[in-house]
Parts: sequence; structure tokens; C-alpha cells
Amino acid sequence: MTNLNRLVLRGGAVFDGTGSEPYAADVVVEGRQIVAIGQGIEVGPADAVVDVAGCTVLPGMFDCHVHVLGIEPRLLDRLNEPFSYQFYNAAANLRRLVECGITSARDCAGADLGVKQAIESGVIAGPRLQISITALSQTGGHMDGMTPSSNWVVPYYVPHPGRPDSIADGVTNVRKVVRQSLRAGADFVKVLATHSGSARSEKTRFNLAELAAIGEEAAAQGVAVATHAYGSGPVKDALRTGSRSIEHVADLDDEAIELFLETGAWLVPTLSLYRPHLDGDGPAEQRDRIGHQSDSRVDPRAKAELAFASFRRAHEAGVRIAMGTDFGNRCGDNLAELSAMELGGMTPTQALLAATSSAAGLLGVADERGTLEVGKAADLVVVSGGVSALGTLRERIRRVYQDGTLTFESTGAASAAEPAGRR
Ligand SMILES: [Zn+2]
Repeated sequence: MTNLNRLVLRGGAVFDGTGSEPYAADVVVEGRQIVAIGQGIEVGPADAVVDVAGCTVLPGMFDCHVHVLGIEPRLLDRLNEPFSYQFYNAAANLRRLVECGITSARDCAGADLGVKQAIESGVIAGPRLQISITALSQTGGHMDGMTPSSNWVVPYYVPHPGRPDSIADGVTNVRKVVRQSLRAGADFVKVLATHSGSARSEKTRFNLAELAAIGEEAAAQGVAVATHAYGSGPVKDALRTGSRSIEHVADLDDEAIELFLETGAWLVPTLSLYRPHLDGDGPAEQRDRIGHQSDSRVDPRAKAELAFASFRRAHEAGVRIAMGTDFGNRCGDNLAELSAMELGGMTPTQALLAATSSAAGLLGVADERGTLEVGKAADLVVVSGGVSALGTLRERIRRVYQDGTLTFESTGAASAAEPAGRR
């Protein structure tokens, strides 16, 4: 018998992430893996049994779009932040991700290889992380800090030896920046096809030849491309040149939806970005938050309504959707995206699948994670009650396991500031 050190989560329900409705079952973990799921499993004296009656066990969740180094929204604060602060701040954001049940995340610019290695070696707590390190941008684009005043203002992430400069124009240059980011340890390539702001903020954008070169270079190295795009034009260009996912997306026409379906690409809607504007956050607040070069002529509420409508149409058409928030210092509040997706037309089950098995598919780890099945890694979240009330899911998280190790345990009070159990 090799029952030593088994962990048995007994007496609860299981939401396994495969699309099945929750069912009553025990979950048995040995080492880093799930070794059994079912009822009436025999328990030995050496087994560590945890009573999860009244709880649901679900797969560790994914956030496919975070910026764990944070994005300080106010320009003056950004200018006064000491360079190394971002890394210490990342440790806090990463811990908060684990505490809200996010055990896998994709950092879409900011985190460098040191951050990822610090998690992997156990120096800091955090989800399993995929990193792009930087995000390719054209001159005048999202990472270009030159302003109309001719003052250069700190872009989101200052280049440093572990995070190469990401402004590139022309086929040769974009290839070089892709290679530099891969040399620095990137797991995937992040592209800012246009500026931020709106479906109309497309004064500069990568052309088809540049996007094709980026796609070709990434494919040659076997890595995926994630493209930030708002309007249908750049969305379609990115899909035609091999992007595996499109981030944010405010506006989709029928042809763009068709291209999603044809290519099997994922939409990462980041609806949490738009949701405050539905509730009346105006252009001034938005300008304040973004800090520079945002387009104050665009009504954020109209843009948010467009984004939600596009999400609904994409979902109804059957486009693959993976959860992502775009959160930096809001890490910890990531499950708000589940409710936003529900508001956008998903059922609670569909929203949870976007945060588990569908997201695992996007990140290329579906054979290891994203569902609760025998042989899968034991990334588990235990919540009290069921999983259909998404709005209270965060406060009902009782335990989080990563690869079979307990990394967060709530003491029961519904507080976001519970001390975490550490490996
Ligand atoms: Zn982002």
C-alpha cells in the first residue's frame, strides 16, 4: 500500500471544470496529483482527512491577463515610485491572487524572469505564472511615453536589463524585440496592436506585415501570441496572423467573430475594465486612471456598452473565452470578472469554465490543470456552499491548494486579509 501522506477532501461536492454540474464526491490527493475522485473511498490511518461537508471543491482558477507588478494609475505617483518598489509590490499582488483561488496566471507585461523564478523556488507565494515580460508597441503606441509636450513620460514598465525596450517599427525590428523578450525568458509574446483607450484610438497600429513577422517569429519558437486590440480592424489582423488570444476587445463585427471561430483563438474580455464605466465612471476619471495619451473624446460608458455587447455576441456565437482581468494592484478582487461575465450573458457554470478548463486550454496546460480529474495536478479551491453565487465566491473561499500543498486557509471570517498558510 502506498497510502502514506494522502490528502482526502471528504464529504463535499465537486465542480470538476469539465462542464458537468457539481456532484457529491471525495477528492484524494497523493503528492502533487489527484489520484481518485468518487464516493465511498476507503480512508487509511495515514491519510490526512479534511472534512469539506457543505463545501464545493473546484479546480484552481486562472487569470489569463494580470500585471502583477502593478500599474500605478496616477501619473505623479508613478513618477515618484522608486524603481525596485514594483518587485516588492508584486509579491503582495501574487499572494492576493492565491488567496482568491487563482493558482495559474498569465502576466501580460511587467513581470520578468526573476519574479517567475522567485515563485517557482518558493521565495514568494504566487500562482504558477506565464510571462511575456514586455509588450511590443509601435512608435506612438501604448508603450511609447513621448507626449505632445515633447516630455517623455514613464510608460507602464520602464525597460531594464531583465525587461527589454519594446518599441519596434518594421518587420526587422519587431522580430528583434520578439527575440529579445524570448531571450529574457518570455513564455509568450504580448503585442499591443493599437493604443489603449477606445475602438477609435487607432491612429498608430502595427500593420499586417509587422504582425505577420511577430506571429512567424513566435511560431518558430513554439510560443503563443496574445494581442491587445479594441476595434474589429486590428482584431482581424491579429487573428489572421496567428494570435492565440485577443485581449480586451471593445468592438467586434461579424467577420471578426467568424475569424475567432475559424482560428479557434480565445477572447480574453477583461470586462472588469469596462464595468465601472457602466456604473457612470466618466471620461475625467478614466483620464486620471490611465495617466497619459488616453482619448478623452471617447465616452467610456458607450465604449463599455459596446464591449459588453461584443462579448455577448461572441459568447453566443461559440467563441472560446478565457477569464482575464487586466488587474495590477486590484489583484485579490479578480473573481469580480466572473460576475462581469455573468452580467455579459454567461451562466455561472460557463463563467467558471472560462476561469478553469478553457483558460487552461489557452495557456496550453489543459493536460495538467484546469479540471479535477485523476492524474491532474492538485490545484484545488474549497469554497463553502455551492458555486452558483459568483458574487460571494471570494469571501467563501476556505482553502487553496497548489500542487497538493495547502497555500491558503481562511480562518472563517469573511475577510480578504486572512493570514495565508505558507509552504
Ligand atoms: Zn493589460
